[in-house]
Amino acid sequence: DLMTFDEFITHWAADRPERIAMREEERVFTYAELEDRTARVASLLLAAGLQKGDRIAWIGKNSDLYFTLFFGAARAGIVMAPVGWRLSPAEWAYIANDTQAKILFTGPGFEGAAAQLAGKLDHDPRIIGADEARALIGSTPRGAFAPSRADDAVLQLYTSGTTGNPKGAVLSNRNLFALRKNSADADLAYTRWEDDEAVLVAMPCAHIGGTGLGIMALVAGLPGIVLAEFNPDGVFDAVEQHGVTRFFIVPAALQMLLMHPRCASVDYSRLKYILYGAAPIPLDLLRQCIKMFGAQFIQAYGMTETTGTICMLPPEDHDPEGNKRMRSAGKALPGVEIRILGPDGEAVPVGEVGEVVTRSSNNMLGYWNLPDATARTMTESGWIHTGDAGYLDEDGYLFIHDRMKDLIITGGENVYPAEVESAIFGHPAVQEVAVIGIPDAKWGETVKAVVVAKPGMTVDEADIIAWARDRIAAFKAPRSIDVIAALPRNASGKILRKDLRAPYWEGYE
Ligand code: ATP
Ligand code: MG
Repeated sequence: DLMTFDEFITHWAADRPERIAMREEERVFTYAELEDRTARVASLLLAAGLQKGDRIAWIGKNSDLYFTLFFGAARAGIVMAPVGWRLSPAEWAYIANDTQAKILFTGPGFEGAAAQLAGKLDHDPRIIGADEARALIGSTPRGAFAPSRADDAVLQLYTSGTTGNPKGAVLSNRNLFALRKNSADADLAYTRWEDDEAVLVAMPCAHIGGTGLGIMALVAGLPGIVLAEFNPDGVFDAVEQHGVTRFFIVPAALQMLLMHPRCASVDYSRLKYILYGAAPIPLDLLRQCIKMFGAQFIQAYGMTETTGTICMLPPEDHDPEGNKRMRSAGKALPGVEIRILGPDGEAVPVGEVGEVVTRSSNNMLGYWNLPDATARTMTESGWIHTGDAGYLDEDGYLFIHDRMKDLIITGGENVYPAEVESAIFGHPAVQEVAVIGIPDAKWGETVKAVVVAKPGMTVDEADIIAWARDRIAAFKAPRSIDVIAALPRNASGKILRKDLRAPYWEGYE
């Protein structure tokens, strides 16, 4: 049974040497070429003095070069740690330092990033640009190497940093392959592959929703089409010209496709599945997408620590007429256990909200260099605490409410921000809203809504509070409103409630 990069790559190279393995713009290579190039990468890293377990880092957009370096390193058990190029130079330095990488590869156009990082690094990695890396791969002869084993680390992905500093989740061969194979073997039509398919890598490779799609192509022995960065034209071209049958994008990117003038006239006849997830999707947006694209929709729920997807909402639950399952993040994939725990750590009854915990072969090995955080997140019996609040319905569908950290406890009552936000969202003057808890001497916390007004509108505090009180319980309605110009978001587009909370909690936490 195939379970490592080395096994998959050598298998497909023997099985289908001439099939396309990867394409990025004009660069196309076959499975035979992928095998040869990745063997050379393993050889050149070992020749440079790296050993199994060492880190290399990549800073750049998506690229066939990134996947060649990652897959090659993984074959020899050297760990790739991609740095999100959309982050700020200070965040690049934070992550690059955290990896303690021996070599920092810069992608095409990111030569300047190395200069920006110089002086901010606390170690001295060798820096290799894209041209030099390609030349090295071409000129290094293949040598023997010991292939990595199923439970060896091969990839270190950083969490999005929504609730704190990004943390490096260390993932093994098994993490990356076991569940993908389980699902493909199981009786789920939408995880099975036909031989004429191709997969699009449209999201950034520093996240599992980017890198993971490249791995998906490898698992199936199909072409992975690589987009340097998400852009609607790139997606449309890949669907029309390169036979892409599946891709994964986040809700904000779906919205961009939908708003693009080309969207309605693209030929979607070969497109089978659109996977979306990583953040809650507004129902309206999902309904519009179902009407627009002639593809089936699958929602994915998961986190970096679970190597991405652990739950999927299957196509048949995407009923645009508004079946209530459309609000669900889906059902556990084969081999995944999900439980909902109450504050006492015991499982709560069906329908009750608590913390989502999960166990599967997708669970990371641990956080890099953060033993305390690892111990808090992973139990000894192998459960990961997701930090998400949610409930399971009687059919095993998971509904995600909020982050546990965002839960507001006011006078002993639990308030989930998402419920308050959706009540306020419908107000005609409100463009965006985020709800947080702020300290209060009497109630412990009280509910505050931070609101962005629609262009040309003014927001009246008393009016918003009254609007909310008409729609939700009084204890859930905000006691106060802040109006700001824009909500703080991270590079993944997620709202940073911690930044909204910080000024109020100074001196408390
Ligand atoms: P950090 O852990 O650094 O605070 P993060 O949790 O945003 O950042 P990721 O691992 O990129 O980092 O994101 C995982 C989180 O994204 C999940 O815990 C969940 O809150 C959210 N998420 C993922 N998929 C979905 C989905 N389908 N619906 C709603 N939320 C989702
Ligand atoms: Mg997280």
